[in-house]
Amino acid sequence: MTSQRSRNRLTDQLREMGITSETVLAAIGNTPRHIFVDEALASRAYDNTALPIGHNQTISQPYVVARMTEALVNGNRMDKVLEIGTGCGYQTAILAQLARQVYSIERINALLAGARERFHTLRYRNVKARYGDGNKGWPEQAPFQGILVSAAPTSVPETLPQQLAIGGRLIIPIGRSGAQQLLCITRTDDGFKKKNLDMVSFVPMLQGRG
Ligand code: SAH
Repeated sequence: MTSQRSRNRLTDQLREMGITSETVLAAIGNTPRHIFVDEALASRAYDNTALPIGHNQTISQPYVVARMTEALVNGNRMDKVLEIGTGCGYQTAILAQLARQVYSIERINALLAGARERFHTLRYRNVKARYGDGNKGWPEQAPFQGILVSAAPTSVPETLPQQLAIGGRLIIPIGRSGAQQLLCITRTDDGFKKKNLDMVSFVPMLQGRG
């Protein structure tokens, strides 16, 4: 149930749902999602669904991870990427296979500790994860080619677009729980360009540390 066959079934499903980036599909096919969830849920790890990870949080649905990653990467090899909301670290692990260096911020220490352990076990050496409030971004490491936010604020935190490189993209769900709009904000030479992607459902992005 945690075999390569179940992973291939998942990537086939994502392809049918419209994911076209072969690099994103390969990253999902290579990543042992069962390591990122509780053992009791391992048999459902390759279902295309969100699952609980404790502390009232969830591991995102694989389709949403694929969709957001595809929009972020947009066919490019990324240099530095920032993720807000490490959670169990699954989305981080996907990004680690597509970017030179991944920075990730989590506000719940216990989740961060679990994610760090997995990065170590699975040898994702290009990930730096820290405890903090993602609303502030990671100014010491800016600018980023991409910023991906895995929790939904009610409006775009001002600091995040400012930490994008020119041509960089911010993928972020905005709105109250139940009905959020996934946005792609691109930094251009003279400002920002906004595009609406899908409707999504994320846990809220909170203020301050947990
Ligand atoms: N990418 C994760 C999704 C986890 S759910 C995964 O694949 O598992 C969203 C995460 O965002 C939660 O762990 C939550 O604690 C975190 N979060 C919410 N608000 C935050 C904030 N202001 N700063 C950092 N992390 C935040």
